[in-house]
Amino acid sequence: MVLAELGQRVTQALASLSAAPVIDEAVLDACLKEIAAALLQADVNVRLVASLRNNVKKRVNVSELGRGLSKQRIIEKAVFDELCSMIEGGQAAQQEFKKGRTNIVMFVGLQGAGKTTTCTKYAHYYKRKGFKPAMVCADTFRAGAFDQLKQNATKAQIPFYGSYTETDPAVIAQQGVERFKQEKRDLIIVDTSGRHKQEESLFEEMRQVAAAVQPDHVIFVMDGSIGQAAFDQAKAFHDSVDVGQVIITKLDGHAKGGGALSAVAATQSPITFIGTGEHMHEFEHFEAKKFVGRLLG
Ligand code: GDP
Repeated sequence: MVLAELGQRVTQALASLSAAPVIDEAVLDACLKEIAAALLQADVNVRLVASLRNNVKKRVNVSELGRGLSKQRIIEKAVFDELCSMIEGGQAAQQEFKKGRTNIVMFVGLQGAGKTTTCTKYAHYYKRKGFKPAMVCADTFRAGAFDQLKQNATKAQIPFYGSYTETDPAVIAQQGVERFKQEKRDLIIVDTSGRHKQEESLFEEMRQVAAAVQPDHVIFVMDGSIGQAAFDQAKAFHDSVDVGQVIITKLDGHAKGGGALSAVAATQSPITFIGTGEHMHEFEHFEAKKFVGRLLG
């Protein structure tokens, strides 16, 4: 089920409250049951769904509430807040780097997800915050990957490293990280290859690159328009390289952010940023409230 459909079902379940002559325990239970069923069908982790349901029930004591509309509003707000905390992954969405030491960040994701574009946006974002970023192209799979990174990095005036001749991505990654450590860059961003689909060879390569550079953070980049495939895709990357953050791209299109909830559940990691266009500045801090508001239309 795609997120648009999930949002619709949740909205309908909440709307059904206004159709009930009285909102009592049974009506609330039926509403929460429908919301939970919709979330489960969208591959959201069972534990998260159960806790959402329990937390809403704990917050809303129907017998003590007033009548009619205000009761409905309180329930809606509780569901909204719980969806927000679910998508925050229970962790602080803000990630802090320390200045004056080397932070190594590795980007992973399927081909076309928006990794290279996002690496540049990320580097640009932190450069503006006073960091000294650098980018390493460890994608030897796609022809033209290095040229693309080079072009992006040049435009953003960020130092970059890559090779036209070396075919082992782990070797390039290691060399690049070494170079930039020596140059005292404090944020080294390693861009990796993707494939069109999840393949064991890709995950093996990710493990090798991670072993070579020992990243402080691994960021999973996901195309916001993918729906049902999100959970498995995110989980496969998480299982091989311990993803700690998620960035969702292409939220400027018609996508309602399909699969974002599932990606959070699969990686147990927060979404930190979203991509809202092809350009460098089209990059925003992720705000759970805005996202859930959009989801529920
Ligand atoms: P990679 O294969 O994962 O490195 O993906 P790329 O960075 O090459 O991006 C694939 C395509 O998606 C390119 O045409 C990008 O311009 C485009 N793209 C990336 N992020 C966004 C975004 O947030 N919004 C839109 N509209 N396009 C994006």
